Amino acid sequence: MINVIQDGWGWIEVICGSMFSGKSEELIRRLRRAQIARQDVAIFKPAIDDRYSSDHIVSHSEQRLRSIAVTHAQEILEMAGDAHVVGIDEGQFFGMELVEVCNELANKGKRVIVAGLDQDYRGIPFEPIPQLLAIAESITKTLAICMVCGAPANRTQRLSSDSERVVVGAKDVYEARCRKCFQPPEQESASPSG
Ligand code: ZN
Repeated sequence: MINVIQDGWGWIEVICGSMFSGKSEELIRRLRRAQIARQDVAIFKPAIDDRYSSDHIVSHSEQRLRSIAVTHAQEILEMAGDAHVVGIDEGQFFGMELVEVCNELANKGKRVIVAGLDQDYRGIPFEPIPQLLAIAESITKTLAICMVCGAPANRTQRLSSDSERVVVGAKDVYEARCRKCFQPPEQESASPSG
């Protein structure tokens, strides 16, 4: 049971979209606002994501904030401490465990902000983001711009045909695509038609 006056009000915010849609930028923007208001902020990212920096979260536009790299979502619970605001980047890499962790943090009165991909490179909902969307108080869907036709884009096209490959944040391996230009891997071909 939350004591609102003593513990503040907890809730969950999700920022989701395709790659190149500015999720991390938006996460960083919100966390910075909280820091400016002198709120205690704890920031986490999965240890798998070591692009650019291992102790910062970094957006494609090079904005950065100090963060803690963790392997399991459970570690976030243990390390969040007295933070008022808990930021989590690349939430899709934490698996379903993240849902309960976010719930617990919010129930303790913390503002939890999660950024992550809502679809994988096949256009399939990427757990646990869909589940987080269902329980979140606030949802922001960020849109990229389709790199083929310039329309608003919410899909991530993998340009490599290697389905085994795990590539995090590699600009030359992925493109943002709109619904019309996105091609699921089964029907992969060099140039999208239409
Ligand atoms: Zn397009």
